Amino acid sequence: MEISELAKRVLSGERRALARAITLVESGRADHREQAAALLDQLNVSGRQAMRIGLSGTPGVGKSTFIEAFGLYLTGQGKRVAVLAVDPSSARTGGSILGDKTRMERLSRDPQAFIRPSPSQTHLGGIARRTREAVALCEAAGFDAVLIETVGVGQSETVVAEISDLFLLLLAPAGGDELQGVKRGIMEMADLILVNKADGDLKAAAARTRSDYAGALRLLRKRPQDPEGFPKALMVSAIEKSGLQAAWEEMMALADWRKDNKFWETRRAEQARYWFAEDVRNALLAQLEAPAARRHMQDLAEAVARGELAPSAGAQKMLDGLRETGAGGA
Ligand code: GDP
Repeated sequence: MEISELAKRVLSGERRALARAITLVESGRADHREQAAALLDQLNVSGRQAMRIGLSGTPGVGKSTFIEAFGLYLTGQGKRVAVLAVDPSSARTGGSILGDKTRMERLSRDPQAFIRPSPSQTHLGGIARRTREAVALCEAAGFDAVLIETVGVGQSETVVAEISDLFLLLLAPAGGDELQGVKRGIMEMADLILVNKADGDLKAAAARTRSDYAGALRLLRKRPQDPEGFPKALMVSAIEKSGLQAAWEEMMALADWRKDNKFWETRRAEQARYWFAEDVRNALLAQLEAPAARRHMQDLAEAVARGELAPSAGAQKMLDGLRETGAGGA
């Protein structure tokens, strides 16, 4: 299919075209990269924006159950919802925590929803780029909300936060009254903490956990992008489908405030700048990985080790070599 035809179909919201476009941006083949770039460029002008919602939580807290319930709540409100996953574990082990096809069965059958599991790629940088581009495709396809799910593995939260407008942290009720070893850095990224499983026997523990986290959030430095009272901690039950509307209303309130106060656009501009720099860095790293470059690097390293070349002079030679071979090394 011609790229312009694919672009047209994505813009008309065809899910099959969207799936195909995402496959294209996931491909590492040079000709596919070129086509993907052309496609993204054509779609960039659509000016459509979704609410990009990042969601993180360790395995077992109820992410897929929550996304299914929340996704169905949103489609019930007439919204179109896309779900993407960032799962670095799939790259390491070949088995994806988030990619399981049987997850979110009902949502996947909803014609207003689109679900895409995490690709298995070799490094987080590749997953990040693909996810970012997939988000852009979903936006062009007219989705109102894009949920980007990740497990708390390595740097994946940072990646998701750099793609999202809002970042949600999903937690389970804690047994004791201690905070569950949630890293401070992750708490600082959260716009909403959702304590899931606030139902049945777990409800009292969920209420305690919520208030512990509400207290911890109040102790964090106030961020300029937050109105009074944010970040917040709320209780939800994905199984009983309670607290979903309240959570959505908080997301809307926060989004509206940020739009009114110019933080929304500023943040997206900052993210675009960040990803531009990341792309440049990754492209340079890819050049270093090319076989010829690796051989050259090894030879220079030997010369440096033998004392024939100072490390800095060796580095300079290496960079000069890359410049001469140009993008051919990438
Ligand atoms: P994920 O690994 O974070 O995607 O978690 P899952 O959605 O697979 O859920 C893990 C387990 O928690 C499953 O057994 C779910 O049935 C259960 N679970 C998820 N949400 C809730 C909830 O709201 N209440 C209760 N009681 N259990 C839940």
